[in-house]
Amino acid sequence: MFGDFWSFIQTLVLILVSCFIYFIPYMVASYRRSRNTLWVFIINLFFGWSLIGWVAALIMAFMGDTYQIGQCPYCMSYINSKARKCPFCCEWLDAEGGGNVKNNAAAEDTAKAAPEAER
Ligand SMILES: [Zn+2]
Repeated sequence: MFGDFWSFIQTLVLILVSCFIYFIPYMVASYRRSRNTLWVFIINLFFGWSLIGWVAALIMAFMGDTYQIGQCPYCMSYINSKARKCPFCCEWLDAEGGGNVKNNAAAEDTAKAAPEAER
């Protein structure tokens, strides 16, 4: 009885860990806000069981464009680069759209560099 319980827990943990590893490509894609996220998910789901499909999904997750993220010059929130009005502080933005338009990585760099630049 007790042994059954622990083997049940072990099986459950094994399934959870397997799912986690199985969906790493999808998690990478969604973390990067990749434009390929949907395709990575589909390939991951249907072809991930074959190692080639899994590796292909992972490569796709690391490649490809990411969504354009801009930063509001007033409140420094990350917003859609095409936005004309900041949804967080409701300030109207200039014609260029969401302030300094950059991709994710560059926007994060700007966020880190900004306090120094203001000194
Ligand atoms: Zn704002």
